Formats: sequence, structure tokens, C-alpha cells
Amino acid sequence: MSPNPVLAPAEEMEEPDDPMIEYQARCMERLIPRVHLPRMESARVGRAWLQQLAQSKDAERPAERRAKDEIDVTRRKGVLATDLVGGDTIAVEIKPKWAFLPPPAHLSSVTRGIKTRTCRFCMHAHMKRQQGETVSSGYCPLDLFSTNRARVRHAILCLWDAWVSSHATVNNLKIFVKGKMILPDQTDNILAPDVPSADVDAREIFADAILPLLIDTPVLKTLSKLQRSLDVLDIEGLSRLWQYTEMMAPAYRTQFAQFFAMPEDDDEGPLMPGSFPSPPASPHPARSGSMPSSFQPSPTGPPTSPLGVGSQYLEAPEPTIEDWSSFLDTYLSPFIQFDHNAPVPEDLRFYLLAYLLSATFKDCSIIVRMDLIDPEVVRDTSREVDPTRVTVIDLDPKSLKRLRKWEKLDQEIVQAYANVEDFRTCVDDQGV
Ligand SMILES: [Zn+2]
Repeated sequence: MSPNPVLAPAEEMEEPDDPMIEYQARCMERLIPRVHLPRMESARVGRAWLQQLAQSKDAERPAERRAKDEIDVTRRKGVLATDLVGGDTIAVEIKPKWAFLPPPAHLSSVTRGIKTRTCRFCMHAHMKRQQGETVSSGYCPLDLFSTNRARVRHAILCLWDAWVSSHATVNNLKIFVKGKMILPDQTDNILAPDVPSADVDAREIFADAILPLLIDTPVLKTLSKLQRSLDVLDIEGLSRLWQYTEMMAPAYRTQFAQFFAMPEDDDEGPLMPGSFPSPPASPHPARSGSMPSSFQPSPTGPPTSPLGVGSQYLEAPEPTIEDWSSFLDTYLSPFIQFDHNAPVPEDLRFYLLAYLLSATFKDCSIIVRMDLIDPEVVRDTSREVDPTRVTVIDLDPKSLKRLRKWEKLDQEIVQAYANVEDFRTCVDDQGV
């Protein structure tokens, strides 16, 4: 298993395992059934072996990837992971994207009607199309994530059609046969050797073959549940909670005391009507009050830091594996309840990590491995589905630094969709 173990134990101990291994073991395995995760193990590697690997494999990597990074021959440990694409099989990579429509509680009066009607993916696709990008037209993730077989099948066919029309350039579907990515003019390759391609509609048989693997394993359901239960405030609510928390910090209130001064009498009116709440009375002394639903920082008020960008009043260190692990203790605890409609500043960190984790599941991919397709076998509905054939990948944690960009992107996407007349109505059949 270990390619060339040449190191003394003492030297080996100096280099820790790749953090991805620990992150998967301590975090992802608590959220996704282990059978649906790639197996990862630390493997000792020697310099000579790494140099040989770089020489033999670097030329196969795309030029833009080679320009970005290369094999680090100084490393003494590598990650040995399941080969999900190779072998005598078809490997289908699907990037499903956002699974849900946001709850309306923290959306503004401007965005509420739009965001609760058309899903994020469909709105984003519209914006990208306007900007001249090739997108997966027709595909709606809410179809793929639905509990309705016909809708899931329709989503697969839409992905296929986008794959064909874009000449395999859209990133929501990739198909590999025996380890090599195929193009739409090579669909005969997905068929078993004895199957005459003239007799088979590759599009239909592909959908029939992959459907049971998506419906009879819990992967899509799990991803949908995780995404929606981790993103309960929407980025709009998260951003307001961020600003509210900063404004509630004692040092902030001291620094900008003049903005919080209460009027002497009603005639003078508040200095900033409705914008700057006084520290609320709380029944729990350790916890300040929840964010009022009307809270909105005033553009003429004191400065606040953008979402995810720490300040002297509000620190925002990047989460460590310990942070993720203790976050999951809270998230998975049956005894801890949050009132998401009235979040409190003390829980900001929880909501930040939750949002980042939701983003991981919005951005991950699944790999479905199938035998080369024989229509006779596919039509046999008594076949058992092998759960090891469906694997979730690309589960790396996201950085707080991304939040600011995501907030801006969210605003742009909704603005670009605000005046669309033939808007799409996306159906979230698992919403509450
Ligand atoms: Zn949609």
C-alpha cells in the first residue's frame, strides 16, 4: 500500500498527516454515511518516488493546472484515496448545487418574493447566460433533489442535454469511461461490448441506469437536509446578524456612543430612528437579546465591518478542526435548540460555521460508478443497488474570507433576476 517506505520512524513523526484526512474522519463521517465517502489513508512517500511520479504524470495534467501547482517532492506523507474514476466502469460526476429555496424569515421585502420562487441555481444560470457563459439550461437542482422519481429523471435528462449542447464544457456533469473523460460524440463507449449501439438511445438508457443509484441511496437526501439545515438565515440574515453583533459589542458602543444616545424627550426624536437598538433587556443575563427582525444598519450610521471580515470589535478567526468538531457537537445535539427566527449575537459563530459548511455541501460533487450499460440488465428492476457505488467528493472546508464575496454575488444574482418576466418557478418539495 505504501509505495516506497524509506523513512525512519522519527523522521516520519515530524510530518503530520494531511489535514483532509483528519477533517474527514472527525467531521464529514459524522454527517455523511461512511460508505458514501472516499476512503483516505496516510501513506509514506519518498523523494525519489515522488520525482518519478512528477515526471511520468505531470505531462498529463492540463497546462493551467500545471501553472498553479506541482507535486511537492519534499513531502514525506501523501494521501492514498479510493480511485473513483478508473477501472472497467463508467464514472459519472454530478455537481448538483443548491438543493432548497430559502426560508423567508430573514429575506428583505425586495428579495423575498424572488428568492422563494426561483432557486439560486436557476437565477445564477440566468445571470451567467446574460454574461455570455455556457450554462446547464433547463436543469434545476430542486428536480434532482426532489422525492419524485419523474422529476429526478427529468433532471438527469436536462444534465445530459446540457452536456451534449455544451460539448461537455458545463461543469454539472462529467462522464468518464475506463478512467478517461468522454465527449458527447463518444456515447457508444458507455455501452457494454456486446450491445449494438444502433439499437440504443444512449440518453434514455443513461438516465435509466443512473436513476436507481440516485433514488435508492440516501446521498441526495442527506445533502439536501444538510444544506438547508445549515443555511437557515440565508446570507442576508447572516450578514445582518454579523453587523448587529458588532454593534452590540461594548467597545463598539463606547467608541460610537453618540450614535446610541437616547433622546431627552420625544420631541427631539431618536438620533437614528429604528437603526441603533439599545442593549435589550434579556431574561438570561449571560445572553443579550435577539436581533430585532426590523434591524437594518443605517448607511449614515457608524461604520460596520463587512460580513466575515473581523474588526477590533468582532473577531473572526478561521475555524480550526477543533472548532469544526465542537460546532458539530452543537449542531448534532438533540438537546440544543436555536430559535432561528430570532438569532442572538452569542450564536453568531455557530451561524457562520454553519453557513460555511452549508457552502461545502452546495459545492460538492457526487461520483456514481456504474458497469458499462447493458439495457437488458438496466431493465431488470429487481437488481439491488450497491451503496458503495455513490460517493461524495470535494468536501473541503470553506474560508470565512469567501463570505463577503458570496454576499455581493447573492445581491447581483437577485438583481439580475428581479425584472425577468418569464421567471421560473422552482418547486422545493422538502421545504417546511
Ligand atoms: Zn431551479
